[in-house]
Amino acid sequence: MNQQENSYRLLPSIDKLLQTKQLKLLIERVGQDIVKSESRAQLDLLRTAIAGNDESILQRLAEDNFLEALCDNIKEMIESRFTGSLLPVFNLTGTVLHTNLGRARLPHEAISAMQLVASEAVNLEYNLEVGTRGDRDSHIEETLCKITGAEAATVVNNNAAAVLLVLNTLAENKEVVISRGELVEIGGSFRIPDVMKSANCVLREIGTTNRTHLRDYESAVNNLTALFMKVHTSNYEIRGFVNSVLEPELSALAKKHKLPFVSDLGSGTLIDLTRFNLPHEITVQESIRMGADIVTFSGDKLLGGPQAGIIVGKAKLISQIKSNPLKRALRIDKITLAGLTEVINLYLDPSRLPKRLPLLQDLTRPIEDLQILATQLLPSLQRALLGRAVVEAKPCQSQIGSGALPLSLIPSMALEITPLAVKGQTDSELTKLSQAFRKLSKPVIGRIHDGKLIFDLRCLQNKKEFETQLSQLQLC
Ligand SMILES: *Cc1c(COP(=O)(O)O)cnc(C)c1O
Repeated sequence: MNQQENSYRLLPSIDKLLQTKQLKLLIERVGQDIVKSESRAQLDLLRTAIAGNDESILQRLAEDNFLEALCDNIKEMIESRFTGSLLPVFNLTGTVLHTNLGRARLPHEAISAMQLVASEAVNLEYNLEVGTRGDRDSHIEETLCKITGAEAATVVNNNAAAVLLVLNTLAENKEVVISRGELVEIGGSFRIPDVMKSANCVLREIGTTNRTHLRDYESAVNNLTALFMKVHTSNYEIRGFVNSVLEPELSALAKKHKLPFVSDLGSGTLIDLTRFNLPHEITVQESIRMGADIVTFSGDKLLGGPQAGIIVGKAKLISQIKSNPLKRALRIDKITLAGLTEVINLYLDPSRLPKRLPLLQDLTRPIEDLQILATQLLPSLQRALLGRAVVEAKPCQSQIGSGALPLSLIPSMALEITPLAVKGQTDSELTKLSQAFRKLSKPVIGRIHDGKLIFDLRCLQNKKEFETQLSQLQLC
């Protein structure tokens, strides 16, 4: 008998595999079908390897612990599939509201509420008093109106959906007048001109990039005009010879022509941020007070809640928006609604917000705390990178992110990693280092700037967790 034939005979049968203690336990957890099909797949791979005379496989087959190793392999394959790919990471990028890293962390009040409604039937669209169909907005509308001063409110899946829904409801097949300076792109896939197209509206751009006047709006009005729109230029700012029309003037002109005035605030905050020593951002209340008929904003930007889009404004317009069939396609689910409602409720008592809202905790974290944290972490990080890089604690600047207050930076502290690579190889060394940190069990995401890998500590909550896994760092 040659070695190949012998190897085939060493392969266990599928039944023998499924009878092992390891796989029996696994079957209890994930079911027979999955374990059986993965076992088959692994046996097929082995047969192919034997047919190809793969030396290392032939050798492994002859080893005593082969059966155990094979079961381990099957278990690992299945578990990796069950773990999924959506993982917690350390956001040390210096961007607090990082869209690619899931934006705002939620307060525990919101998380508990989300957990509860996730596991139970709830009166999402059910009126408990009369026992008939209810309105899912009813759970949040009153509080939103109370806080913002608006007459009515509705919520959808995100702010992009909010803008789309508002435009499609109020301006389908009609013209939307907007300043050229506000035709923004937010994070790649959201561009105002494209959203207009998707909403079936005609974009009527007026003015110039740097200057738009009231007379530009006035002369654009014709019998196809549906509304005036103002978009918060969230992620950039033009300085110098600039002019834009202020909300009260635009609102007055809209009234004169009996047109709605819609304001997309993007980030939208419900509180004057200067009370927390943060830069001022126009609030939803201010926008309503200055005459906006409809205001749209995000749930997971400066508001610090879950992904959602909030629409507040005149009752008549909100009611039209709610009855658009698109609303059904864009509606918020019960879990998000529960979380968002809790976050909005926190705003009823603003003085306690910085303690309760993780986003504000991160944004208002005192620089002294960050300096201490940097000093404490420096030795262990330096030890982990010994011979490969120099680590220094340096002041840096965090940004809020998600287009909020793009030019306002918050003083912070960073650990800066400079590779000890030979000249000309710094870039590839930086790539390797940042890859190694991303491969940790809780990936660490920093940013590369100026030949350094920078870890901004502002959003580091668990120092111990960060430090403990440094020993697993695999530098190749
Ligand atoms: C972020 C933003 C949006 C999109 O909001 P999402 O919640 O990300 O969908 C729309 N308009 C403006 C001005 C924004 O800043």
